[in-house]
Amino acid sequence: MSRILVTGGAGFIGSHLCERLLNEGNEVICLDNYFTGNKQNILHLIGNPLFEIVRHDVTHPYFVEVDHIYNLACPASPVHYQFNSIKTIKTSVMGAINMLGLAKRIRAKILQASTSEVYGDPLLHPQPENYWGNVNPIGIRSCYDEGKRCAESLFMNYHYQNNVRIKVIRIFNTYGPRMHPNDGRVVSNFIVQALTGEPITIFGDGTQTRSFQYVDDLLEGMIRTMETGDSFIGPVNIGNPNEFSMLELAREVLDLTGSRSKIVHKSLPADDPAQRRPDISLAKEALDWEPFVELREGLTKTIEYFDKLLKNTQLK
Ligand code: NAD
Ligand code: UDP
Repeated sequence: MSRILVTGGAGFIGSHLCERLLNEGNEVICLDNYFTGNKQNILHLIGNPLFEIVRHDVTHPYFVEVDHIYNLACPASPVHYQFNSIKTIKTSVMGAINMLGLAKRIRAKILQASTSEVYGDPLLHPQPENYWGNVNPIGIRSCYDEGKRCAESLFMNYHYQNNVRIKVIRIFNTYGPRMHPNDGRVVSNFIVQALTGEPITIFGDGTQTRSFQYVDDLLEGMIRTMETGDSFIGPVNIGNPNEFSMLELAREVLDLTGSRSKIVHKSLPADDPAQRRPDISLAKEALDWEPFVELREGLTKTIEYFDKLLKNTQLK
C-alpha cells in the first residue's frame, strides 16, 4: 500500500485513476481546482477512509508526504485549454515545477501525464518516442503543446540535476465514461450529438486521423510505468495504434447509437494535426503493455455512460 497524490484527480482520467488506485488498497489524495473536473466524477469515492480531496491549484506550491505523485492537472481539450491559454501554460510549467519540487523534497516518484501533442502535426508516422515533433510554437495549440514540452524538459532536468525519480508518459487520444459532455473533444461531441439528434460536426473533410485509446488501457499503462524501477524514466508512448479518420469515427458512432443525425462539415481549426498514431514498441518491451479494448467496445461503454447522463440531466 502506498500513499499517492493525483493532481487533476477530479477530471476524466484522474477520477478513474483515483478509483483504480483505491481499489488496489492505496491511500489516495485527489488534488484539483475543478476547472474542467468536477466532484460528480469522484462522488462515489467520498466516504472511503483511504480517499481525501483537496481543492488546490497546482500553480501554487503544495506540501504533503506521499510515496507517488501522478501529475495530471491540466485542461486537455482544445476548447478548454484555449479558453485561458496563459493559465494553461502556467498550469503545465508552474504545476510541474511545484510538483517536482515536492517530489525532490520528499523523494517521491513522480509521473507526468504528457501528450502526443508534443509531436505536433507529425511528419513521421507512426510516432516513436525519439521523434522530436513538428510543433508551431506560436499557434493556437502552442499553450498546450509547448507547455507540455516545457514540462517534459523540467522533468528531465530535475532528474539529471537532482536525481528526482521521474516517469514521463505520452498519452494519445483517450476516451471513455466521465469525459466532459461539453468539452469539445471529438468522441464526446459525436456521441452527444448522435444521442440528442443534433448534426455530427466534422471539422474539415474528416480525413484527418487519430488513434483512440479506451481509458482502462491507459490506466494499466500508467500504473505499470509508475511501478518500473528507477532506471526507466521514459518518455514512453501510451496509446492504441489502431488509426481511424474522423469520418470513420462518425460512422461508428452513428451505427452504434442507431442515430439519424446528419453529418455536417465545419472549418478545420488552425494547426489541427493531419494524422497521429503511436509507435508502442517501447511500451511493449519495457512495460509488457499493449491496449486490448477495440474502438467499438470502448465506444459502446462510453455511449451507455452519456445516454444515462443525458437522461439524468434531461438534456435529451
Ligand atoms: P480533464 O480536463 O478531464 O482533467 C484535468 C483535470 O485537471 C481537471 O479535473 C481540472 O479541473 C484539473 N486542473 C486543471 N488545471 C488545474 C490547476 N491549475 N490546478 C489543479 N487542477 C487543475 O482532462 P483529462 O482528459 O482527464 O486529462 C488529464 C491529463 O492527461 C492532462 O494532463 C492531459 O493533458 C493528459 N492527456 C490527456 C489526453 C486525453 O486524450 N484525454 C491525451 C493526452 C494527455
Ligand atoms: N473534431 C471534429 N469534430 C468535433 C471535434 C473535433 O471533427 O466536433 C476533430 C478535430 O478537428 C481533430 C479530431 O477531431 O481533427 C480530434 O479532436 P480532439 O479535440 O478530440 O483531439 P485533438 O485534436 O487534441 O487530438
